[in-house]
Amino acid sequence: MTAKTLPVDPFDLVIFGGTGDLALRKLLPGLLRRYADGQIREDSRIIGVARDKQTDADYRAKVGEALQRVAGNDEALKAKLPAFLDKLGYHALDATKDEGWEEFAAALKAQGDRIRVFYLSTSPSLFVNLCDRLRAHGLNGGQSRVVIEKPIGHDLASATVINDAVGSAFAESQIFRIDHYLGKETVQNLLALRFANILFEPLWNANHIDHVQITVAETVGLEKRATYYDTSGALRDMVQNHLLQLLCMVAMEPPAALEADAVRDEKLKVLRSLRPITADEISHMTVRGQYRAGAVNGMAVPGYLDELGREDSRTETFVALKAEVDNWRWAGVPFYLRTGKRLPERVSEIVIAFKQIPHSIFEHGAGPVMGNKLVLRLQPDEGVKLWLMIKDPGPGGLRLQHVPLDMSFAEAFGVHQPEAYERLLMDVVRGNPTLFMRRDEVEAAWKWIDPILGAWENQRETPKPYTAGSWGPSAAVALVERDGRTWHEDTV
Ligand code: NAP
Repeated sequence: MTAKTLPVDPFDLVIFGGTGDLALRKLLPGLLRRYADGQIREDSRIIGVARDKQTDADYRAKVGEALQRVAGNDEALKAKLPAFLDKLGYHALDATKDEGWEEFAAALKAQGDRIRVFYLSTSPSLFVNLCDRLRAHGLNGGQSRVVIEKPIGHDLASATVINDAVGSAFAESQIFRIDHYLGKETVQNLLALRFANILFEPLWNANHIDHVQITVAETVGLEKRATYYDTSGALRDMVQNHLLQLLCMVAMEPPAALEADAVRDEKLKVLRSLRPITADEISHMTVRGQYRAGAVNGMAVPGYLDELGREDSRTETFVALKAEVDNWRWAGVPFYLRTGKRLPERVSEIVIAFKQIPHSIFEHGAGPVMGNKLVLRLQPDEGVKLWLMIKDPGPGGLRLQHVPLDMSFAEAFGVHQPEAYERLLMDVVRGNPTLFMRRDEVEAAWKWIDPILGAWENQRETPKPYTAGSWGPSAAVALVERDGRTWHEDTV
């Protein structure tokens, strides 16, 4: 059984940057799937905007080509593609110039008062221009919403500039700051597991949880993002948003209701409870690394500096750090976070490691009693595993085994799991911001990150090298092992 998809109200969705990578690889494929599923009504429209001059027909042909590849052998998607492409239009506009905006606004307004979504899938340097023009042309009314992508700034000051600009054109309730990790099935399942079962919440605290690990590992290197990535690095690109958002979902108090502000208030409290990492602690609480040449999945790959074509970059492609949440629930429970490029496998997971039992009644020969673990996997195969001790089956003496109760969603439900963008785009149309970041959350996250960036900068150390295809510098292993713990390895 799968959840029913209810159609959303008709809308106009304008994708600024409609010819870009994100639009073609994520947004339009997601919209096609929602359309094929019957969630998008026939009178909705999707309008691509970019500077390139082209006709509606050119744009449909270009998008059609990309979506053919996405549809692959999926006959249902292929059958719906022509009707989906009919909903597409194109408008050539430059975010930085006034030319053409008058006609663009008039064409949108001619549709009457309906939901209008402006997805800013462009470089953040254009957000201010775009928001100013949307406001100047009266496109920021009550039924309008604006979606902004990461990176929202590269520190607190620059994030504030972006938030001010977007906030001067749109009310906070109209602004959807996307973090696609929050749209993943497993993240919402974390809410279901925690708050729809009696089993976990009584144990969800420092009395019973030993530590938490959050890993987001990528196998890819720079791809086409070299210019952006080299000015960002793993801490800004991944930790400030995705990993801290996941940490919040694990650590927050039960919200009074599953309502946007109730959930976001609780996440904000977690961000504000993060203990600052001081300059003195930086060397033993954080590890930064940069990959050297190696092999990933049997393929030889160059090092970061070779990929970049520069010798002098000190940008980190790997971060591991130990975070602490200073409140009653989590006092003394470390949250180990790690993320990096060119790691051995593409995996994102949250591991909740429970404490050991207080006393073992089993004889030495029964083997060690290992702590329970709840492992929530976000990708590649979304699912949950609960690691338990059981008796080794069969005759003979009582020996213990650590085994996972495994629930892989795709297997359990046998259905296509919607991609994060599919769900989030429909939430934007519905006007439901629960899974989006509020301004104060983004700023609180930067407030915690900025001192780490500052301390690294002052240290002027180069990142520790690690071989592509390894799990990062050995210091990342030491970070956890110094505390008598190890990074989780899925052995089944
Ligand atoms: P991209 O491939 O470089 O596309 C940029 C788009 O913006 C193009 O359609 C471009 O078309 C248009 N554009 C550039 N200058 C413009 C201007 N002055 N006025 C109007 N349109 C303009 O970038 P992307 O990878 O799609 O990324 C878009 C945003 O999403 C960025 O903020 C990025 O950080 C974020 N993001 C991307 C990904 C991803 O997987 N790609 C993931 C997370 C976040 P013209 O040049 O023809 O104008």
